Amino acid sequence: MHEECGVVGVSFKDEAPAALSIYYALYALQHRGQESAGITVHDGTQVRTLKGMGLVPDVFNRSDIQKLKGYVGIGHVRYSTTGGSKIENCQPLLVSSKSGTIAIAHNGNLVNSKELRDELEKEGRIFLSDSDTEVIAHLLVKKLMHSDLEEGVRELMKRLVGSYSLAILVDNKLVIVRDPLGIKPLCLGQIDNGYIVASESAAIDILNGHLIRDVAPGEMLVFSNGTYESKQLVKLKNSAHCVFEYIYFARPDSIIDGELVYGVRMRIGENLVDEHPADADIVSPVPDSGITSAIGFAKKSGIDYREGLMKNRYIGRTFIMPGQDMRETAVRLKLNTIKPNIEGKSVVLVDDSIVRGTTSRRIIDLMRKSGAKEIHIRIASPPIISPCYLGIDMATREELVAAHKAIKGVEAVINADSLGYISINGLVKSVGIPLDDLCLGCLTGLYPVEIPGEQCSRRQLKLSEF
Ligand code: AMP
Repeated sequence: MHEECGVVGVSFKDEAPAALSIYYALYALQHRGQESAGITVHDGTQVRTLKGMGLVPDVFNRSDIQKLKGYVGIGHVRYSTTGGSKIENCQPLLVSSKSGTIAIAHNGNLVNSKELRDELEKEGRIFLSDSDTEVIAHLLVKKLMHSDLEEGVRELMKRLVGSYSLAILVDNKLVIVRDPLGIKPLCLGQIDNGYIVASESAAIDILNGHLIRDVAPGEMLVFSNGTYESKQLVKLKNSAHCVFEYIYFARPDSIIDGELVYGVRMRIGENLVDEHPADADIVSPVPDSGITSAIGFAKKSGIDYREGLMKNRYIGRTFIMPGQDMRETAVRLKLNTIKPNIEGKSVVLVDDSIVRGTTSRRIIDLMRKSGAKEIHIRIASPPIISPCYLGIDMATREELVAAHKAIKGVEAVINADSLGYISINGLVKSVGIPLDDLCLGCLTGLYPVEIPGEQCSRRQLKLSEF
């Protein structure tokens, strides 16, 4: 099961209600998951949770938010693929024990969750969901029975293999943990009267706060009484920040691990011109995901930027639709051409990525029907050749068009006049983070953690480094 999610944690100094801030922050993170949303708050004596299937405004109304009393809390938006789309998997997830209640919100994916779950089930623990987050929750509860918070979380981290950005409520303490490779983003901000931690800095912005810094890989933050304490529980030589956050997943207005996503996408567009120049009349984006790179391409090449496609903004991402037929229908529903802009023109069409190839093929067909003379596709990621096991819902290897075909083959499948992908070097240069500190698993087939049946890059997580 693969998941894409957004997490939030808020801690206020006084009795200010955390739920409203969490609600706004989840709104800002809605693009990270549209399947379910949830908030858990604590008021010093009682924990309260509300969660449900659907978008943030479908799950919460004004009176719900008012009833969620508490000055500290966590929130979650979630999207998962087949098998996981049910209410039991909604987060925050609560686990009670003799020592109290733990609520947990997780972004990421563990690759050893089955093994850990089998072990915990043998000890008699009962699981209510099939999510790896419940495994983390049970394991933490177990560790906390014998250790204090710092030692318990350290022990927990020793067992988890994969990506995890966590917002946890241990009674009325907000505990934040980022995995030792910093695979999924997580950042810390200051807001009026307190602090916020969120998957993306855009959530801090909308609360009128300011970004303090990223949570460091392997770091734990504990918030209580209006302050926080930081513990670097694990320190590895290198990080493995997910490069797909920059390519597609994150909002362009977010700053992730020091890099503004908009800037990265602009630079990719500019670098694409050097790597794959095109002789064309206009540069056009596939909205919304190709817009920023298309602007970069147009600026650098001097070719006119002109929109050839218009998006219906009331339709979610087509990827979200289950089943291939639904996806194809969704593309038609989602995009229409602006005919006079493309008729008789040679068009450079910029998109962020090609996964299965279905979207590109349909868009190209649509543009040809509307009279485009030539269509030169430029893609802001290198070919995606391997699945993601670490928190991006990508597709299986069989479904990935570039896993089986060379670039000329993909060009033929999508029916483009030419196809150019940014190179891995060009991408890394555009991101501005050293190659050794990025996870490029989907582009290279080399993963930063050990995954059965896959190759591991040199940054294999060694438990001896804890
Ligand atoms: P396709 O090649 O038909 O699978 O669709 C690729 C398009 O889907 C890309 O251009 C992206 O805009 C979008 N996309 C890529 N990865 C994801 C993802 N993990 N979740 C949702 N949409 C995605």
